[in-house]
Amino acid sequence: MSIAANIEGIQEQIEAACKRAGRDPSAVTLLAVCKQQSPEAVCAAAAAGLRHFGENRVEEAVTKIPQVRQCVAEPIVWHMVGHIQSRKARQVPGLFQVVHAVDRLKLARRLSALMSERDRTLDVLLEINVSGEASKAGFNALGWQEDAETRDSLWRDCETMLALPGLRVLGLMTMAPFVPDMEATRPVFRQLAALRAALARDLHVPLPELSMGMTEDYPVAVEEGATIVRIGRAIFGPRREN
Ligand SMILES: *Cc1c(COP(=O)(O)O)cnc(C)c1O
Repeated sequence: MSIAANIEGIQEQIEAACKRAGRDPSAVTLLAVCKQQSPEAVCAAAAAGLRHFGENRVEEAVTKIPQVRQCVAEPIVWHMVGHIQSRKARQVPGLFQVVHAVDRLKLARRLSALMSERDRTLDVLLEINVSGEASKAGFNALGWQEDAETRDSLWRDCETMLALPGLRVLGLMTMAPFVPDMEATRPVFRQLAALRAALARDLHVPLPELSMGMTEDYPVAVEEGATIVRIGRAIFGPRREN
C-alpha cells in the first residue's frame, strides 16, 4: 500500500468512528508520527495532504526537519510526542510548535523559561498516566475520581502549569497500555476524557485537546473523544531499526 492510500484508509476509519460517536470528523487531527521514517516518506505524506508531523527524539528532529523543508512548501506543524530530557529542552522551541509529553513540573518550568526568554508561546499537552503503570511517564491520575489526595495533587500541578508564562496548556495526552484487543483500551481513553472535562470545569480553562490513540487503537480513541490521533505505522509501515 502507498502512503497516500494508507492515509485515505485511516481518514475513512476516523470518519466512521466519528459517525458512530456523533462527532464531527473535522474536530480530529491526524498527526503523522514519522520517527525512524525517511524524509522522503514524510514528504509523501505531506503531498497526500497531511500538515501535522510528530517526532519522539530531539536528535532525529534536528536533522529531519530541515530535510523535510526541502521537499514541502506548505507550512508544517511539528509536534514533539516523546519524553524530553531536561538537558535537551533547550532545542525544543526552535524545532517544535506543540509538545505532547509535558510529564513533570520541572520540564514545564524549563520550557516556560526558554519561551519567556524568547518572548514566545509554546502549545503544550500534559501527559497523564491514567493506568498507574509504574513504567509509564506522566502525572499520576490513577483513582483520581475516588482518591482526593491524587486529585488535589494533580489539580495543583495543573494550576501551576496553567500559570506559567510562555506555555499555552491546550489539553491532555496519554499512552494507552499495549494490549492485544483495542476494546481493552477504551476505559483509559474514557478516563482521560472525563479527567479533561473535570479539570476544565474546576480550573475554568477550555483545555480543548485530547491526544490519544495510535495505530492499534485509534478508532476507539476517536469514539471516546480524541481530538488528535498520533499514528505512525498505519501510515508509513514498519519503522527502520536504528
Ligand atoms: C511512536 C509513537 C506513536 C505512534 O505509534 P504507532 O503505533 O506507530 O502508531 C504515537 N505516540 C507516541 C508518543 C509515539 O512514540
